[in-house]
Amino acid sequence: MKIKALNGFKDIVPGEVELWQKVEETARDIFARFNFNEIRMPILEKTELFARSIGEATDIVEKEMYTFVDKQITMRPEATASLLRAYIQHGLHVQKPIQRLFTIGPMFRHERPQKGRLRQFHQMDVEVLGTPNPRVDAELMAMGAMLLEELGITVSLEMNSLGCPVCRPGFREALLDFIEDRKESLCEDCARRSRTNPLRVLDCKNPTCREQVEEAPSIQEHLCEECGEHFQAVQDGLQQLNVQYSLNKFMVRGLDYYSRTTFEFITRDLGAQAAVGAGGRYDGLVEKLGGPKVPGIGFAMGLERIVLLLQQQEEKAEESDRIDIFVAGLGEKASEFAFPLAHTLRRTGLLTAMDHEGRSLKSQMKQANKAHARYVLIIGENELEQGAAVLRNMETQEQQEIAVSDSLSSDLLEILSPAQKS
Ligand code: ATP
Ligand code: MG
Repeated sequence: MKIKALNGFKDIVPGEVELWQKVEETARDIFARFNFNEIRMPILEKTELFARSIGEATDIVEKEMYTFVDKQITMRPEATASLLRAYIQHGLHVQKPIQRLFTIGPMFRHERPQKGRLRQFHQMDVEVLGTPNPRVDAELMAMGAMLLEELGITVSLEMNSLGCPVCRPGFREALLDFIEDRKESLCEDCARRSRTNPLRVLDCKNPTCREQVEEAPSIQEHLCEECGEHFQAVQDGLQQLNVQYSLNKFMVRGLDYYSRTTFEFITRDLGAQAAVGAGGRYDGLVEKLGGPKVPGIGFAMGLERIVLLLQQQEEKAEESDRIDIFVAGLGEKASEFAFPLAHTLRRTGLLTAMDHEGRSLKSQMKQANKAHARYVLIIGENELEQGAAVLRNMETQEQQEIAVSDSLSSDLLEILSPAQKS
C-alpha cells in the first residue's frame, strides 16, 4: 500500500512552487524596503513559551498545539513567541534600540483541514520591537497592504484597539455584565470561557453568539485617554499614507497578548478562511517572557491563503481568454470545408479559431492548447469523404465522432453550450 502525507500536511510540487517563490521574493523585497532584517528560529520550543505568551484560554493553546507531552515541548503554532524568545535570549535590544525583524517558515496547528486551513502551514511574520510610536502601527499596516497590492491581491483592512491594562479591565467588566444575561444562548466554548476570556465571545464565529453580541459595548468607547490618543494617531497615520481601513469593534484576535492596535487583512474570496493576515501591538509581552520592558507590534500573513488567491486569479484570467472551439482542417479539402464552418460557428456566438496555413495536426493542437480551447474539431480528408469528423473535449480528453451534415454547426452548438452557460 502507498504511504501518503498526513491529513492537513501538503507537498509543494513544481508547478505550484513557482508561485510560492514569487510571493516570498516579493515579500523579501518589500520587507527590505521597510528596513527589516531576517531572523530564523527553531520549530520546537518549550511548551511554556506558548502557554505564557499566547495564553492558556485560547483555541491555540487549549486544543491546536502539537505537543510532546512527556518532553514538555511543542511545535510552534505561530512565530511571535519564538521570535521574542530569540530576541531576549540574544540581547537584540542592546544591539539596536529598535529592531525590525521578519521570518518566513512553517507553523503547526491541529485544526480541521479545509481549503486555506492546514495543519502545517506557512507564515510570513514581521515584528517591530522597541517603540510604542503609533506611526509604526500605521507603517506596518501600510507595508502589509503594499505587499498584497504588489501581488495583485485585493483585501480590506479592519482594525480595532484593545486598550491597555489601565482601561481593559473596565471594558471587561462592562462586557461580563452584558454577557451574563445572555450566557444561556452562547455556544459551549463561549459559555465555558466567558469568565476567563470574555473578549473572545466578541469574535466567536457561531451565528447565535454573533447575534447575541451585536449590541455589546464597544472597547473603542472604553479606551483610557492615552489609548484613545494612540488609536487616533494610528488612524491619522493611515490617512497620511493613504491606506484604506475600517474600524471593527468585534475584532479581538485569538491570542491573549495583544494591547491597543489589532488588525486583519480580510479577503472575500476564500469562504470561511477570510483572514489573509493579522496582527497587533503587544506592549507587555517581552517583559512577560522575561525580557526588558520593550513595546512591540507585528503581523503574520498566511502563505497558503495568498497562494490560493493567486491561483484563483490565474484560473480566472485563463477562463476569460478561453476560446470555445478550434476547427482543425487537415489538408486542402478539409480546410476548404472548415473555412465557412468556422464562420457559421462564429455567427452562432461561439468563440472560434482556425488555422489558415495548412499546418500539421500536431501544430494545430498546440495552437488550440495555447488558446485554451475547450473543444477541437478535427476534420481529416478521409473522414470528410466518409461524412464524419472528430470532436475532442480538451478538458476530459474524450473524443467523439460527429456526423458532417447540414446540421453540423447546430449539433456543435448543442454539445458546447451546456458548459458555455456555467
Ligand atoms: P483564523 O481566524 O483563520 O483561524 P487565526 O486568527 O487563527 O486565523 P493567526 O494566528 O492570526 O490566524 O495567524 C495569522 C495568519 O496565518 C492568518 O491570517 C492566516 O492567513 C494564517 N493561518 C492561521 N492558521 C492557519 C492554518 N491552519 N492554515 C493556513 N493558514 C493559517
Ligand atoms: Mg485560527
